[in-house]
Amino acid sequence: MPELPEVRVVSKFLNSTVKGSTIKDIDVRYKKMIDEETKRKLIGQKINKIDTHGKYLIFDLTDYDLISHLRMEGKYYIRTAKEFDKHDHIIFYLDDKVLVYNDVRKFGTFDLRKKELTYKTKPLNKLASEPFTIDEKEFYENIKKRNVPLKTLLLNQEVIAGIGNIYADEILFLAKLHPFKLGSKTTFKEAKEIIKYSKDVLTRAILKGGTTIYSFKSDGNVGYFAQDLQVHHRYNEPCLVCGTLIDKEKIGGRTSYYCKVCQRK
Ligand SMILES: [Zn+2]
Repeated sequence: MPELPEVRVVSKFLNSTVKGSTIKDIDVRYKKMIDEETKRKLIGQKINKIDTHGKYLIFDLTDYDLISHLRMEGKYYIRTAKEFDKHDHIIFYLDDKVLVYNDVRKFGTFDLRKKELTYKTKPLNKLASEPFTIDEKEFYENIKKRNVPLKTLLLNQEVIAGIGNIYADEILFLAKLHPFKLGSKTTFKEAKEIIKYSKDVLTRAILKGGTTIYSFKSDGNVGYFAQDLQVHHRYNEPCLVCGTLIDKEKIGGRTSYYCKVCQRK
């Protein structure tokens, strides 16, 4: 699933290709994704710019915000070939080009909101701040009251926005904190370390174009951060710090990779 760095890469691509364009027509090939009323409202809207918050893309339109979540496999590309792919579900006919939303799993979502309601309604109303802007003290107080493993807390978009399974493992490894350590047992110093390494990992990943293990791809752009991953997906390989073989375990249904020596509970 694309996480904050990959979504930033997609927004950069969209800003460089469709910013300033106007939606002339839309072909909704998978009807559940965009209903008739939403489609009608979208036609005639100009794309001022594309913002992001956590894992969400926000198309800033003339009168509305269109909130797009790529979920597992969502991708945007500019049509060059004549034929459409069977997984091209939404075709945006812009005044100067054709933007295609492709999604093999069909899990991606679109929500259209009046601008004043964007952050007052689902899906963004409960979304926490990103690591770049989150208040350290608030973050600490929030995790402190939860008897929940740090790994699960980092994946909770209402606690901190933009982090998914890959980067959560990397952040906890760098902060030397065990994924099973409970939020309630975390000190303020450790909470600050989590924020510090979150910014560090996400910034480096954005610069490298994201991580393209699994399926993320943004219109031909390949992300190179996979080569920099220190712990995620390295089961039974030696820890880069101490040489101990990397462990893996499921936490809340997600496989977590960690070093049992370096990361303290
Ligand atoms: Zn280690």
